[in-house]
Amino acid sequence: MKRPKIIDIRATTVTVPLEAPLRHSNGAHWGRFVRTIIEIETDVGIVGLGEMGGGGESAEAAFRSLKAYLVGHDPFELEQLRFKICNPTASLYNNRTQMHAAIEFACIDIIGKFLGVPAYDLLGGKMRDEVGFASYLFFRLPNKDTGKGEIRTADQLIEQALELKRSHGFKAHKLKSGVFAPDYELEVFRALAKAVGADSVRYDPNAAFSVEEAIRFAKGIEDLNNDYYEDPTWGLNGMRRVRENTHMPLATNTIVINFEQLATNVLNPAVDVILLDTTFWGGIRPCIKAAGVCETFQLGVAVHSSGELGIQLATMLHLGAVLPNLVYTADAHYHQLTDDIIVGGPMKYTDGAIKVPTGPGLGVEIDREKLGKYSDLYKSLGGYLYDRDPARPGWFSTVPNTRWADPTDDRIVDY
Ligand SMILES: [Mg+2]
Repeated sequence: MKRPKIIDIRATTVTVPLEAPLRHSNGAHWGRFVRTIIEIETDVGIVGLGEMGGGGESAEAAFRSLKAYLVGHDPFELEQLRFKICNPTASLYNNRTQMHAAIEFACIDIIGKFLGVPAYDLLGGKMRDEVGFASYLFFRLPNKDTGKGEIRTADQLIEQALELKRSHGFKAHKLKSGVFAPDYELEVFRALAKAVGADSVRYDPNAAFSVEEAIRFAKGIEDLNNDYYEDPTWGLNGMRRVRENTHMPLATNTIVINFEQLATNVLNPAVDVILLDTTFWGGIRPCIKAAGVCETFQLGVAVHSSGELGIQLATMLHLGAVLPNLVYTADAHYHQLTDDIIVGGPMKYTDGAIKVPTGPGLGVEIDREKLGKYSDLYKSLGGYLYDRDPARPGWFSTVPNTRWADPTDDRIVDY
């Protein structure tokens, strides 16, 4: 049987609207996600799909520039691909980890389609048919067109959490935070935890706190049903000092995102739960390797979300399907989106979980009409400044942050 060879790579930037702008400690998602959709073409007629966060002309050109490395490559050769694209010393000059991830997704998709098997069967076989998710709650600005969707107060947050629990069946709830002053957020988070009853909660201020503030905040939430306390402060040493001063497990998606950091954390623990992101780690396979290290050293793992449309979500589902040591629900921004670019429309949550796709490869296909529509929308809107907040002109984030948003500001801002 003739093995497939890569003959071309295409990259298309799309922007898909969110219900409302999502605020975080570094800025905001300004009412939409911008994603780059990758299509890798082979000489056997199979096209593999990948996805990366961000986009625009420079991202598309960067992917196009990798064509010279990819033409003639056999997609089965995933280890060779890693060194061709991001040899750790050669790539000091051009950090291609996230681009490698998108290409790895597409190659795994091609292999699965070529063999007629789902990705999870290539990755060790599935331990579960569906992956559980936490609701991912954000402080949100009002939608500029409808004036709706604002989340600023405890009442607004609880209303959304309970609505999502009713409609999607979530049993764990994560609050992305670090927007308002810690005492205000403490009050809001405690109110949320009380409102969701026996469900578990997670607090993630994206490293906005000083070590001392992080410890003080920990004391304020230790009695709640916390899955873990996520990135309260910055850096391995900072997190280690917090960990010495709380009995809650600490989780991270910022300070352990490669094998060198994972080794450091094994030798001198700073965090307990590693949130595996198929993009940050450079693909699905590096996440599985990292999960194996975590299994060996009894560290926890969970599936992280750095924003996703259906292709990236499929990578998260296949990852979640094959990890034996996955005891936490995954995160996904997905339910904040208004649409997707995959055939059949957005994947559905049932009882807080999404079924792992069972079709060949990643098990998702591009809806060409939607891809065209959201590519056109990107062309008309362009990008946005992820690390700025449209409601706080002139503000920029620092770690630790000391300049917080005003919780009484209920203006509808343009973005
Ligand atoms: Mg996080």
